[in-house]
Amino acid sequence: MKYLFVCISIIFILFGVTATTNQHQSSCLAIQQLFIKIRDGKIPMAAAIQELKKLLVKLEQQQPNSTPTLVFPIKGYNCSAIGGKNGSGFIPKGYSFFDGNKHKGHPAHDIFIRDSNQDCLDDKTHLPVPVVSVSNGIVISAENTWADTSLLRGGNYIWIYSPQHHSLFYYAHQSTVTVAVGDVVKAGQTIGYVGRSGLNANKKRSPTHLHFMQLKISPQYQPYPVNPFSALCNNKPS
Ligand SMILES: [Zn+2]
Repeated sequence: MKYLFVCISIIFILFGVTATTNQHQSSCLAIQQLFIKIRDGKIPMAAAIQELKKLLVKLEQQQPNSTPTLVFPIKGYNCSAIGGKNGSGFIPKGYSFFDGNKHKGHPAHDIFIRDSNQDCLDDKTHLPVPVVSVSNGIVISAENTWADTSLLRGGNYIWIYSPQHHSLFYYAHQSTVTVAVGDVVKAGQTIGYVGRSGLNANKKRSPTHLHFMQLKISPQYQPYPVNPFSALCNNKPS
């Protein structure tokens, strides 16, 4: 009788875990679909906001809270690799997340690696350079099939939602993305490799870099850019 009770309990626990995992996966896939519609200008802004709110609220409920962290997004590099003077590459004017691939402004930092021959290998180590997640989070959108005929500006990109920062983090131009939609990642975990994918990033005139952006989620669930420069520069390199 006792064993029967234990067996039934295990079945219920496993069923609960599977149901939660499925719920998590379907929330993430729904966000991925929404982000593609936004990227490609296939959804009106009001509808997109409503949908985003619904999906993020659901995802938040599934995630345990932990301490916010922010590590440098390129392994072996630090703040001195950020383009411009003291983060002057950050230009939020005119940007709207809902403009997708046609967005204006540059509310982001371009972080350059040592790659004089543009082979995406570090000139010093001769190895690919890992992009790491700045925070704990959930992969909610990822592209890993970029080809040089594509008009996508982000190339192979990743969107990670961090409930702790109440933010979306965007990493663009990777050579390869090593995570998938639905993955739960830890701060400092490798998520891809610095590359030259993307409409402009692929051109000879563009030095090899990671395009990194943080969008906070407003109480109305509208993502808006914030400047992570000082947070990145006060942190130790990953
Ligand atoms: Zn950029």
